[in-house]
Amino acid sequence: MTVTEETASASNTQKIDSLSPFSLVNQEGPGQAITHIKHRSDNYEELSRSMRRSLKSRRKFGFCDGSIAKPTDDFLLGQWEVVHCTIVQWIMNSIDPSIRDSVSDTEDARLLWTELEDQYAVIDGAKIHHLKTQLHDCRQAKGMSVTTYYGNLKTLWDAIVALEPPFTCSTSGCPCGVTKAALARQDTERLHQFLMGLDKSLYGTIRNHQLSLDPLPSLNHVYHFGLPRLNS
Ligand SMILES: [Zn+2]
Repeated sequence: MTVTEETASASNTQKIDSLSPFSLVNQEGPGQAITHIKHRSDNYEELSRSMRRSLKSRRKFGFCDGSIAKPTDDFLLGQWEVVHCTIVQWIMNSIDPSIRDSVSDTEDARLLWTELEDQYAVIDGAKIHHLKTQLHDCRQAKGMSVTTYYGNLKTLWDAIVALEPPFTCSTSGCPCGVTKAALARQDTERLHQFLMGLDKSLYGTIRNHQLSLDPLPSLNHVYHFGLPRLNS
């Protein structure tokens, strides 16, 4: 019997619709893993995105952001507590044992969610800032190949995107065009970063030519076809 059925038959007067956020189906026990990501001290953003998606797909994220308020009805109040405890357990299951002691012992999913955010989001914020500074300073040094220089940029771009993904549209197929526009802007920004960091003595003229083109070429095109490989 599921928790829902047990509680419902105990009260015997009310049933919870299976689509309600208050319902827990068979496989949704406290031992379940709702994400495959384990929280360490340095991957909070990745974990919180994954858990948020997972909880939203179960219509239960409202217990964490407070939008599902504490019910006044006795029966629902009981179930509200059951769901909270279950979500707390799900979140705890995805926290690496090495840092579990740093998280307080609570049965309130909203408190736990806020605490994790307060404690760990800052670390990621500082990390993004550090990566952007490195990106800003990334140059093709004298004697460094374009391939190596591009590889250095790519490593930084990937690390930043993992922490700070570009905006995307939630409508399938994105009829409004926001997703495409966001990616185009990202590509233009990267093209500038790439061209401006090239060794000026070798690529100064080509760089100015590429930047004067309208429309601007894609980064991929410039990297593969736009530069003579002087030192590969
Ligand atoms: Zn759209």
